[in-house]
Amino acid sequence: MTDPLMPTYPPPAVEFVRGEGSWLWDAEGRRYLDLLSGLAVTSLGHSHPAVAEAVCRQARTLLHVSNLYGSEHNRPLARTLDRLLGGGGRVFFSNSGAEANEAAIKLARKFGGRGRHVVVSAYGSFHGRTLATLHATGQPAKHEAFQPLPEGFRHVTWMDLDDLERSLDDTVAAVLLEPVQGEGGVHPASGEYLRAVRELCDERGVLLMFDEVQTGLGRCGAWFAHQPHGVRPDVVTMAKALGNGVPIGACWATDEVAGVFEPGDHATTFGGQPLAAAAARAVLEVMEAEDVPARARAAGRRFREGLEGLDQVVEVRGAGLLLAVEVRPDRLPEGGAAAVARDLLGRGVVVNPVTPAALRLAPSLLIDDDEIDTAVARIAESLDACDPLRGTGGGAGEEPG
Ligand code: PLP
Repeated sequence: MTDPLMPTYPPPAVEFVRGEGSWLWDAEGRRYLDLLSGLAVTSLGHSHPAVAEAVCRQARTLLHVSNLYGSEHNRPLARTLDRLLGGGGRVFFSNSGAEANEAAIKLARKFGGRGRHVVVSAYGSFHGRTLATLHATGQPAKHEAFQPLPEGFRHVTWMDLDDLERSLDDTVAAVLLEPVQGEGGVHPASGEYLRAVRELCDERGVLLMFDEVQTGLGRCGAWFAHQPHGVRPDVVTMAKALGNGVPIGACWATDEVAGVFEPGDHATTFGGQPLAAAAARAVLEVMEAEDVPARARAAGRRFREGLEGLDQVVEVRGAGLLLAVEVRPDRLPEGGAAAVARDLLGRGVVVNPVTPAALRLAPSLLIDDDEIDTAVARIAESLDACDPLRGTGGGAGEEPG
């Protein structure tokens, strides 16, 4: 039978029907430890009771009103985000990360004015799949089928300050960077680099915009991954974890930058509507009560301690609970990290092969020590089983439970 869905994803290896905390279940009742969280989305785990309650309550009260009218949640939500970002800014709500970045790009263009519209981003970056954010994404192979892409994007070598400096002519409105490149393989920028970029942007009158769609909201051990480096950006975008699975994104900008938008400049039917905003308020309340940045730091340390000693592991890199486990090339099976991820799925563990040689881990920020120890033990078993110098391969999945 023809798949009724467009073939934008490969056929799924498993279909999940239920989730609770760090665990997922398939239709046969098999249980899986989720170390991916829908790609850094369900940061409070699946079916968090406070989020579920907020969604149910809001669905019974008021699902949606146009952004032409006020609603009880979006301003308090924006105030909380502004506080977490250090204050002095304003927020535009979207439905996704790409849309949050679209808002940032439009803001940069309006702030820069005619002729000063170029956004500079890094090779290896990922900023979304809309035409503009696809062009901002520094992965030329992803561009080819969709040329011509919108004009006004330029790419520089990741973490190369000289290359960035050369790119900043007077057509540049903004620099857009992920503080940790996520899709590109989990590569953290150094604080030294980010501080130098801030200085350079100030010298040239260029905005500094951080894409924290994947890294934001506690994931990397701080509310936002740029914060430990003491750099204050002009614009920050976020999405993924904000609704814990309910689609919502946000573009924050300093008062000075946000103030260039006037009514009619930008809009969205759904962005920040009551259901999504109610969910996000509940998410932030739980995140603050649980101090998720501290939890991510501690859990990240435990993962590293468990994984760094494994024979097959070259390095564990990342920040907080956004980690990549790089495997020695000679200890990878045919098919690379993707084959290890398939083997792990058979052992009841969900991870993502972020590069041909690295597994990405982005578990719930509320993951407990027993779950971390189980995760490390199963990754170790799988790496042994897949290791061409040792193993025999193939887990059988966890029994229904
Ligand atoms: N920016 C970053 C850093 C991302 O990791 C992603 C998604 O993976 C996006 C933007 C796009 O977000 P969305 O898929 O919600 O449009």
